[in-house]
Amino acid sequence: MIYLDNAATTAVSKEILASYFALLNDQFANPSSIHKAGQDTFLLLSKAREQVLKLFRLKEHDVIFTSGATEAINLAIKGYALANSNRGKHLITSSVEHPAVLNAMVQLRDLFGFDLTIVPVDANGVIHSELVEKAMRDDTIMVAIMHVNNETGAIMPIEEVAKIVRKHPKAVFFSDTTQSIGKIETKFEDIDMFVVSAHKINGLKGSGALLMRKGIRIIPLASGGGQENNLRSGTSDFPVHVMLAKTIRMALEKNSEHNAHARMLTDYLRDELLQNGEVEINSPLNGSPFILNFSLKTKKASVVIEALSLNQAMVSSISACSSNKFIGSSVLSAMGKNKTICNNSIRVSVCSENTLDEMKTFLTILEQTIESIR
Ligand code: PLP
Repeated sequence: MIYLDNAATTAVSKEILASYFALLNDQFANPSSIHKAGQDTFLLLSKAREQVLKLFRLKEHDVIFTSGATEAINLAIKGYALANSNRGKHLITSSVEHPAVLNAMVQLRDLFGFDLTIVPVDANGVIHSELVEKAMRDDTIMVAIMHVNNETGAIMPIEEVAKIVRKHPKAVFFSDTTQSIGKIETKFEDIDMFVVSAHKINGLKGSGALLMRKGIRIIPLASGGGQENNLRSGTSDFPVHVMLAKTIRMALEKNSEHNAHARMLTDYLRDELLQNGEVEINSPLNGSPFILNFSLKTKKASVVIEALSLNQAMVSSISACSSNKFIGSSVLSAMGKNKTICNNSIRVSVCSENTLDEMKTFLTILEQTIESIR
């Protein structure tokens, strides 16, 4: 199998699996229990928390372990907006956010009376920070702009946005960094709240975290025993959280090496695909090298993806979460692409394990597939 759907999820690293099983075998007590076994697991959990902060070089943030990015995003956005609505009810986001962000924002607008500004993107799928600046108001309390777009790999100017938001003391800056951690170098201390998802970086599924600057007030979305600083109740899955720290360490250590490898792979793929008149590339040249999105001008992407899959090449159409109900890409539509291009996009997403030979084989299979579909 040639697996080129790493933005949807990655294979778990053997090292993580081995450490996870060893830990599961060894320790099982509830970290909230006051006996010695509970204190031991509490210590492990505290160490994992400290390690995560150290890895991101953060001194002013806290870690809230969650089940993944979706939960962390909802906790950050709804938890913050609902806790701070007395200070203002205006929220800003972009038109190409992942549904976890966009739907949370829309829910706040439609059910809780918040005012929402959705900033558009340019033809490359990138937001312009001046538009965020223009949208800022006295009652703006949150700006949520993703770092790397999950469909196109477009990189947003989050450092500039962070600077703009910092000038407005009432507002915080949230960034969905799910597709950038371990892939694109980032100054994490600039971001008030951001998220990590382990399964995007060879970690365990059901594992993630919200990183938030100390002093920011949010409310929990689920009531319970008050674990995770009173923000995320439920008995701690501490072995999973401990593994998250290791997963982040492994990803950050190899960030630049993996980035260069991905660049080599997707640059090759881009150059070769450009020779094919059937193909239109949707990913910007200066985007994340881990994602290459293209559309077929006359062939149905759903048919091509199925045929590729029968030939052992796994790629995605639009974001995996909604690919089973096939609808055109709202991200490409926000970039001003026509309906055919929006309906027929294919996302190739690579990881450090992929090879140039796999790219070559994929291109051969793709060409044969396109030829065979009349
Ligand atoms: N945000 C982005 C940009 C993503 O790509 C994804 C996953 O597809 C998510 C959020 C949701 O992540 P998780 O699967 O950890 O909930």
